[in-house]
Amino acid sequence: MVVLDGKATSAQIRAELAEKVKVLKAEGKKVPHLAAILVGEDGASRTYVNAKVRDCEEVGYGSTLIKLPEETSESELLKAIHKLNNDEDVDGYIVQLPLPNHIDETKVLLAIDPKKDVDGFHPENVGKMTLNLPTYIPATPQGIVEILRRYNVPTEGKDCVVIGRSQIVGSPMSILLSQHNYPGNCTVTLCHSRTKNLRQVCKKADIIVAALGQPGFVTADMVKEGACIIDVGITRVDDSSKKSGFRLLGDVDYNAVATKCSYITPVPGGVGPMTRAALMLNTMKVIELS
Ligand code: NDP
Repeated sequence: MVVLDGKATSAQIRAELAEKVKVLKAEGKKVPHLAAILVGEDGASRTYVNAKVRDCEEVGYGSTLIKLPEETSESELLKAIHKLNNDEDVDGYIVQLPLPNHIDETKVLLAIDPKKDVDGFHPENVGKMTLNLPTYIPATPQGIVEILRRYNVPTEGKDCVVIGRSQIVGSPMSILLSQHNYPGNCTVTLCHSRTKNLRQVCKKADIIVAALGQPGFVTADMVKEGACIIDVGITRVDDSSKKSGFRLLGDVDYNAVATKCSYITPVPGGVGPMTRAALMLNTMKVIELS
């Protein structure tokens, strides 16, 4: 069994990007600049955004963090987005989700200039991804594709089950793994809360991508011997023994499933760091695609 080590792989990606930045600088070219808008005080969102700023520092990108208070109105946020769209120094930016309830997420995503949409959530970029055209792919599926590629995990002709159909993880994942290239060429079944006999469906899978947000949902009896298991789930549970006061649980019963499978991503240290690395890759892509 091979542990797909997202921590080590993402460190490798950051080192490669840092080398690219050095080359850009030596050639007198612009280095990528990533901005992030954070609205409100959600603890997890703050942690994610701060990590993105640290990643930028490590690889040598410029970074800007725009913190707006919880009570920011939709029109104020749209103004901030408009400003970033017109800021020539900013190559790409993200609006950290979730947004406070009084703000229409779709309106916000539509306002982002697709050329700067490094999260890949704008319909123009979703459309390009679906057509397999060069674009920004949402960071989590992109991170998964990257780790499969770097570990040479076989995907061609494999039966793949994706559990969860969100626009940011499950749905794009199902599209990417069915595409006509590596890693892809899978026969994909996209499952969700209305799927019948999910246990039996999973049992036939060569690859399972669990992205539903229910700790320990995928148990050993649902997994075929030798399957590849990608655990996307992150659920925070209180843990007073940790400095942070919480620990992270994945959607897979790791210890039991690990004894049966051929590849597995741990939580933490699997898909999470790959998601962060994918955002850094997308930000470099802005320069490469322009
Ligand atoms: P959503 O809540 O948006 O979607 C969950 C999906 O799971 C839905 O499609 C839902 O079905 C499906 N689902 C829920 N319960 C079941 C069930 N019992 N059986 C089958 N399907 C079920 O979640 P996200 O996609 O945003 O995130 C999923 C998980 O991944 C979360 O734990 C999240 O924290 C984590 N995550 C991790 C990231 C990382 O970097 N590692 C990045 C992003 C997310 P239906 O559509 O029918 O409601």
